[in-house]
Amino acid sequence: MNPSIENKVIAITGASSGIGEAIARHLAAQGAKVVLGARRIDKLEAIAADIQSAGGEAAFTTLDVTQLDSMTAFVQVALNTFGKLDVLVNNAGVMPLSYLNNYKVNEWHQMVDVNIKGVLHGIAAALPVFERNSSGQFVNITSVGDRWVGPTSVVYSATKFAVRALTDGLRQEAGPGIRVTLVAPGATESELAESISDPVLKKQAIELFRSTTLSANAIARAVAFAVSQPDDVDVNELVVRPITQKNF
Ligand code: NDP
Repeated sequence: MNPSIENKVIAITGASSGIGEAIARHLAAQGAKVVLGARRIDKLEAIAADIQSAGGEAAFTTLDVTQLDSMTAFVQVALNTFGKLDVLVNNAGVMPLSYLNNYKVNEWHQMVDVNIKGVLHGIAAALPVFERNSSGQFVNITSVGDRWVGPTSVVYSATKFAVRALTDGLRQEAGPGIRVTLVAPGATESELAESISDPVLKKQAIELFRSTTLSANAIARAVAFAVSQPDDVDVNELVVRPITQKNF
């Protein structure tokens, strides 16, 4: 338990695996009431059941971040179930890496829709709630790809550069009492490489992830650090890499 996190209502997008799941489990163990959203409802149900059987509080609902209505309903689940929303973690993301001249245009669109529009929908759904209360916090999960670009990660990095810009702009525009945090993970254990459709790139990514990854808990602890600060402390940016990740 952490008295600075206890009883906060924290909604997490993409909570069905990887980093989102770790954030949900870690914050719930610190006493937060967590609301889990993603498309794979069976996974969310199992994670919420685990949290509840460990004595925590969790709700879950199906969520497609590419749809504004779905995001608005997700925020409403937090309000209906727990009476308030303190933190929205915009974590859902996809990373189908490919070379530009493979023209996987549908995958470019998917990255824009989930990684950028998903975060914008989170802002549209939660900012009115936070502004009404003059209180609240966004935690946007980007990537070290929000400041680095290399072959095959061009579109993915572009989406994360965009979210970094959005996050800093949101920080400046958001009303009093609203905090905005960006957490940029390096290579982290998760299912992210599964979204790569090119078999060679997928194998390379999985090998890289196996050789040099953080546990998703390391990112969850970074989120907990930002959330647990006193209300007048706005942790704006945390970049968390495995110690062995030097070149990107
Ligand atoms: P995972 O693939 O394990 O998790 C991605 C999550 O996003 C899943 O819960 C998935 O749930 C959800 N998601 C995907 N599309 C949608 C959608 N349309 N609506 C709602 N949820 C969706 O990967 P990670 O945990 O690694 O990814 C989490 C975040 O961390 C991403 O933003 C990623 O870019 C970022 N990141 C990850 C790094 C890593 O090395 N793992 C490094 C840097 C950043 P479902 O399929 O059930 O909808």
